[in-house]
This record gives sequence, structure tokens and C-alpha cells, in this order.
Amino acid sequence: MLKSLSFTDYTLAELTGIFREKNFPAYRAEQAAGWVYKKLVFSPGKMTDLPPDVKAFLSDNLHVTGSIIERVFESKLDSTVKFLVKLADGNYIETVFMAESGGKSAVCISTQAGCPIKCAFCVSGRNGLKRNLTVGEIAEQILHVNAHCRDNASSHNVKESQSRPVRNIVIMGMGEPLLNTDNLLKALEIITAKWGLGMGLNRITLSTAICPREQLDKLVKSKLVPNLAVSLHAADDNLRKKLVPHCKADIAEIVRNAKWYRSATGKELTFEYVLLRDVNSSAKDAGNLARLLKRCNVKVNLIVFNAVKDSEFSPPPEKDVLKFQDVLIRAGIMTFIRQSRGQDISAACGQLTSSE
Ligand code: SAH
Repeated sequence: MLKSLSFTDYTLAELTGIFREKNFPAYRAEQAAGWVYKKLVFSPGKMTDLPPDVKAFLSDNLHVTGSIIERVFESKLDSTVKFLVKLADGNYIETVFMAESGGKSAVCISTQAGCPIKCAFCVSGRNGLKRNLTVGEIAEQILHVNAHCRDNASSHNVKESQSRPVRNIVIMGMGEPLLNTDNLLKALEIITAKWGLGMGLNRITLSTAICPREQLDKLVKSKLVPNLAVSLHAADDNLRKKLVPHCKADIAEIVRNAKWYRSATGKELTFEYVLLRDVNSSAKDAGNLARLLKRCNVKVNLIVFNAVKDSEFSPPPEKDVLKFQDVLIRAGIMTFIRQSRGQDISAACGQLTSSE
């Protein structure tokens, strides 16, 4: 007797192997995956074209969602929705859905419960790392959002007929994705495969604060290569060590690794920079950043610090933000200011936590 497994932990090849062992025809695995990923039907009893013995096997041994939506928070400021997701072992993670009319909706997914990097201005790492998410826990975040939107279509700016509203994925929720690369890669296979969620890699962006060459190399070798965003936050190493204390690499190495990934994949490369008042947001800081990135042909996303509880940091005044952007633009660097979303429900960058 198999112990109870999670359906979403497995690729189709693995599911087929499990089905074969039970003497079920291989195509039944693909049929079941179709119910889960295409039709968002998670209860084997409702998978109408499966024979009773396959349904019984699924019910007894391969449950579909190990994680459940515990609470849903809807922003009154914009159409952002935050999901508090409870994992099978009682840990919590958060997933954010940013609905947009015109099909630009995005989901922000987590890869770890908690985070070990402990960026000075971010709450996700305050209690350290609880654990890596499993493959299924990563993939299920998208299933949950899609199913929720299907069931609540009218209230979330999504067309009634649009059964799978998630178009873009940003791997920018809780956790450092490149410390959970193996599980993330398998989840990306499920997310992008034709038999799975069938989403394009060009619509997926991974954000990392550490940018290690060895892990980027794993992505390249697997050919599951999302766009890359690198959380830089400082142009000099002393300051970066204070802001991102648990990153071993220095800035030169981070930039080198990021550029290597871009040349190996042809993917988009963006640097993220959180603007903190009196810390890293002066015109001089902007000049240093411009010198660092001038010839790199990259995009910069400025993120104005989002207030988090008990923080020593605050956002700079708007005129400093615009000045910072202006310095970069004058140096020929495409620079955007990221619009903050879902602030009233603590769903914005750096506000996600694993505590209920
Ligand atoms: N762990 C990944 C994804 C983090 S969230 C990473 O660090 O890249 C995405 C971005 O939000 C990161 O650039 C992160 O540094 C930033 N961020 C964290 N806390 C923030 C806060 N309080 N205000 C604004 N941005 C924040």
C-alpha cells in the first residue's frame, strides 16, 4: 500500500510510472492531469471519464491539494487579492493575485515558508526560514488562484468566461527561490508543460537576492528559464552587506552572474532597488548605481519602501524618488517605478509573512 502522495508533486512521466505500477493504462495519468490542471477539478469523484478503480486509487493515494486557502483578503485600493495558504504541516504562506483588465493579471508566488536571507527591510525573513516548499505547494498556489477566480469571476475584474485568469507569474513572494531550485524547477515543468498549466516561460519572472551562478546554471541546463530580476538595493558592498546580510556574493559577482544568465538564455534582466529614506536614495546613490549599470543594457525597477511593522526604515519623499529615476534615465538606463499594490491588505513587496 502506497502512503498518501500529493498529485501535484509529480510530473506526467512520474504519474504515468505510478499508474503503470498499479496496472492502469498510461493515458489515465494524462486524463487525470487534464482534470486537475485544465479543468481545475480536484476531487477524483468528479473526474467523470475515469473508471471507478482509478477514481478510488486517486482518492485513497494521490490527493490533489495538500494546501488549502485559509483566508482571502481583498484590497479596497485596487483589485489585489491576497491568499493566506495553510500547508499540510500547519505552516502558512501567502500568495498574491494582481488582477488587471486586458489580460495582464499576475500571480506572485512563494517558494519558501519564511526566508533565510533576512533583508533588513523585509518582513518575510523576520522569523527565519521555516522550510522549503514542496513542488506541489509551489504549483498549487496557481491552482488555488485560478480556482478562486473562476468561482468569483465577477468580483475580480476577470471575464466570466475566462476560466484560467493567471497570465503572468512573478516568483517574488516569500522566500529565496534559488535556495529551493530543485523543487522550483519541477514546479516550473508542471506550470509550463502542455499537459500541465501550459504557461509560457516568457511570462514568468524569478526574483533573487543572491543570484548564485551554480543555481542559475541548473535553470539553464534544465531549459526552464524564466526572466530574471535581481534584488540589488545598493551599489556599494558595505551598504549591501547591511541591507542583504545573508548574501555571500559581492555586487560585482552578482552582476556578472546575472549577465551570464542573460547571455546564456536571451531572457530579460531587471535590477530591483528598494528606495529607503536616508539610506540608499540620494542623487549620489543614483549616480553610483548608474555607473555600475551603465553599460549593462538592463532595466531598473525602483520600489519605494512599503511600510512594514516595527521597521527602522521609511520611504523617501516623492521628489527624491523622481530625482533618483531621472539620474538613471539620463545615464541611458530604462528605469521604472514599481507601482505598489494591495498595501491595505499587506500584500505589497516585502509585506508577506508566514505568521497567521
Ligand atoms: N526573495 C526575492 C523576492 C522578494 S519580493 C528577492 O529578494 O528578490 C520582491 C522585491 O520586493 C525584492 O526586490 C525585495 O527586496 C523587495 N522588498 C522587500 N521588502 C520590501 C519592502 N518593505 N518595501 C518594498 N520592497 C520590498
